[in-house]
Amino acid sequence: MKELQFDAVVIGGGAAGMAAALELERSGCSAAILEREDHLGGILMQCIHNGFGLQEFNEELTGPEFAGRFIEKIKSTGIPVYLNTTVISLRSEGSAGQNHKELFCVSPDQGVMKISARAVVLSMGCRERNRGNVRIPGSRPAGVFTAGLAQRLVNIEGYIPGKEVVIIGSGDIGLIMARRMTWVGCKVKAVVEIMPYPAGLTRNIVQCLKDFDIPLYLSSQTTNIFGNDRVEGVEVTPMENGAMVPEKKFRIDCDTVLLSVGLVPENELSKEAGVELNSATGGPLVDAGLMTNVEGIFACGNVLHVHDLVDYVAEEARLAGSFAANWLRGGHPCMQVRLKAGPSIRYVNPGKLNPQGGNKIFMRSLIVKNDATLELKIGARVIKTLKQRHVQPSEMITVELGPKDFENVSLNAESTLEFSLA
Ligand SMILES: Cc1cc2nc3c(=O)[nH]c(=O)nc-3n(C[C@H](O)[C@H](O)[C@H](O)COP(=O)(O)OP(=O)(O)OC[C@H]3O[C@@H](n4cnc5c(N)ncnc54)[C@H](O)[C@@H]3O)c2cc1C
Repeated sequence: MKELQFDAVVIGGGAAGMAAALELERSGCSAAILEREDHLGGILMQCIHNGFGLQEFNEELTGPEFAGRFIEKIKSTGIPVYLNTTVISLRSEGSAGQNHKELFCVSPDQGVMKISARAVVLSMGCRERNRGNVRIPGSRPAGVFTAGLAQRLVNIEGYIPGKEVVIIGSGDIGLIMARRMTWVGCKVKAVVEIMPYPAGLTRNIVQCLKDFDIPLYLSSQTTNIFGNDRVEGVEVTPMENGAMVPEKKFRIDCDTVLLSVGLVPENELSKEAGVELNSATGGPLVDAGLMTNVEGIFACGNVLHVHDLVDYVAEEARLAGSFAANWLRGGHPCMQVRLKAGPSIRYVNPGKLNPQGGNKIFMRSLIVKNDATLELKIGARVIKTLKQRHVQPSEMITVELGPKDFENVSLNAESTLEFSLA
């Protein structure tokens, strides 16, 4: 069995993995990328629409173009990249302070490989929720796909999975696929969303549904999928005040159903390594240095929490790479203060902040509101107030906090800060 050793190993070669590896390399650490696909780039490679890179490159790029810029940098640095290499096991061995990580991977070329590293950056992305996760009743005909799978079939494999399509869930992948399926000649009959507001970005509602006159049924539950060999239609039951109204249910005929009902971080390896998970995000709980509870294991990108923009993924991953490099050099953890989600906030990431340094905090709202007020408090005392023009659960809120924000606040390791929205 081949055995390798690096300062750090990055699991996953999407936008997050590449940005983290580049930062590790820039900081003088030996780092390798392990990627199960036969190419770098991750999910970006099937996102052939534009809308990527406005912040990172100040240009509007397609997914493959955005990935291509990082792939070129990786090539020019000579960072070792192991493609077709799936990490099947991740463990932390040894006692705290002296532990090392042991990874087992498989690849057709190398068979089983054992890799040792002091630090690991988790960047395995996320996976789509499927019909089982949302318990849609009905028969089990062919023609039900997740939206991301349909995207791969159309954009990479060159197959069109059906002709008349209903999309269940209004997440961004479903919205993008509504437009894509229309462009390839399908009839997209409706997008059906259980919540009273869309789950995707406003720009995607406009550019992918409104521009193509595709109806969006909000507050509507899919209560049946019909068909034996192949999908023949779906039953939709409107909801009023949170309850279904069966007398208003209706049927939409279709031969294809695409599910866009959420994403969950890929967390099997994290769990095996003993990483504590955040029940609100499904990803690891991390501190202000993006380190998990397992010393030397860091996380970034969609494996940490599902991001709507790849630019934020790259920014967060660079931070993870630089925190990992600092930790490898023996950098001591800074003073950290707990950060929690208060009223109307679904989650706050990371779960801690460093009051003496720069912090970029990501959070998601539980409410839809114009002219909202975001407050950061310690107990009843308000430390910072930020006006938000519009908030909704699908649009990530980002806040930068630095030492100036805490100048007159006495904090210690037991303090807890709370974000709330009203
Ligand atoms: C349909 C769609 C549309 C989008 N549209 C936009 C947009 O318009 N603008 C925008 O900015 N963002 C958009 N995004 C978001 C953006 O693309 C993602 O947030 C970002 O690319 C995620 O990067 P990542 O590296 O975290 O994950 P991924 O790209 O998923 O990379 C994870 C990598 O890890 C690998 N991996 C997983 N497990 C293992 C393992 N055990 N061993 C080895 N390798 C493993 C996977 O193969 C994968 O390559 C879109 C996303 C989707 C899905």
